[in-house]
Amino acid sequence: MRDRADLVIIGGGVLGLSLAYHLSRMGFSDIVILEQGYLCFGASGRNGGGIRQQWSTEENIKLAQQSVRMFRQLARETGYNIWFRQGGYLFIARDDESAASLEKNVALQNRLGVPSRNISAAEARRVVPGLSTNGVKICSYNHSDGVLFPWPALWGMARSVQELGVEIDTFTRVTGIDVRDQQIVKVVTDRGAIATNRVVNAAGGWSWQIAKMAGLEIPNKPYRHEILVSEPLRPFLNPMVCDLSDGTYFSQTMRGEICGGLSDPDEPSSMNTGSSFKFLSRMCQSMIRILPRLSGVKILRQWAGYYDETPDGNPVLGRVAEVEGFIQLNGFGGHGFMLAPAIGKIAAEWLLRKSEHEIFTKYSLARFTKGEVKKETLVIG
Ligand SMILES: Cc1cc2nc3c(=O)[nH]c(=O)nc-3n(C[C@H](O)[C@H](O)[C@H](O)COP(=O)(O)OP(=O)(O)OC[C@H]3O[C@@H](n4cnc5c(N)ncnc54)[C@H](O)[C@@H]3O)c2cc1C
Repeated sequence: MRDRADLVIIGGGVLGLSLAYHLSRMGFSDIVILEQGYLCFGASGRNGGGIRQQWSTEENIKLAQQSVRMFRQLARETGYNIWFRQGGYLFIARDDESAASLEKNVALQNRLGVPSRNISAAEARRVVPGLSTNGVKICSYNHSDGVLFPWPALWGMARSVQELGVEIDTFTRVTGIDVRDQQIVKVVTDRGAIATNRVVNAAGGWSWQIAKMAGLEIPNKPYRHEILVSEPLRPFLNPMVCDLSDGTYFSQTMRGEICGGLSDPDEPSSMNTGSSFKFLSRMCQSMIRILPRLSGVKILRQWAGYYDETPDGNPVLGRVAEVEGFIQLNGFGGHGFMLAPAIGKIAAEWLLRKSEHEIFTKYSLARFTKGEVKKETLVIG
């Protein structure tokens, strides 16, 4: 392991890797990535692979549009097939408030060039064969959203950055950050220390712990989010289906399995990644309500990972006033994978040019104390 680096990235998830991917392609590769487990150990290796441009804020729509364009190139760039399939995303609204927000969101999305549409329950049934229209007020559908397989996306970026000189140390846990006179001097791990003046906190659900090591409080909290996968079925389901009434989402993988999850509103913040019967039961009931033909399908496996949540559902990015050289790249909740390509590229440009970018002001840690908070409302999970 190297004992010195210009930049240390803590966390070998999609955000840390995406930043390193873009920095190294821009010619900056004096970087060490520290990962306590294997590369898919965190949320980036446990998620549903959903990639959508249907958002409620202009920032997220633009970031997602850019990310979709980048995901379309990623396999070619890295040589790893990420199984990106643009089969669409269907949102289901069952009450007036959700219906109104879908209509408002579609108007904003269309203005920014996303070809989403509001469609009736009957039309949605043509998009999703067998969809139950009971209680469905209205849907929104965008054919250019999709799903991918997260693991090869990580492996491809990891291989590419290593070829450009970035060191990735897996099974290397950060245990401390040495700060003197408000300036980072080194990162301490269970395999030795690395001298550096710049550290990126890309530790997902653990980012609050990493911040503490640098003497900083961030408002991020980890929440368990559970997900499951069924036995493989003959391909019949093109889009990812999301029900706004309870947050259920599921899609069909390239291997035919139905894969999806939902959050539990009563789940407390914790470092628990165990699996629960409560989730299994709620999820199966909800899937059958949406798509009765799934009744009788066998569930093969369930697992969980963290949503790294912030008070407004948006990430924490950029510098902090308290510790020089300590950069935040965390707080992505249930949508970090789909935004990672654009965020990684913007963060790389920002770091190299040392110039500000609007999302680094908008999503700075300081916004929580200044009260400049605009909530993303189309958070689902
Ligand atoms: C079940 C589930 C489903 C999801 N579905 C979707 C989806 O469909 N679409 C989407 O866009 N997003 C989804 N998400 C969210 C998405 O997975 C995350 O937002 C994203 O992966 C976060 O990436 P990250 O790099 O910030 O964090 P992570 O992938 O968690 O990476 C952080 C890494 O930091 C490492 N680390 C932590 N502490 C230390 C330490 N002390 N030393 C060294 N390393 C450390 C961890 O081991 C971890 O690998 C889902 C999440 C879950 C859990």
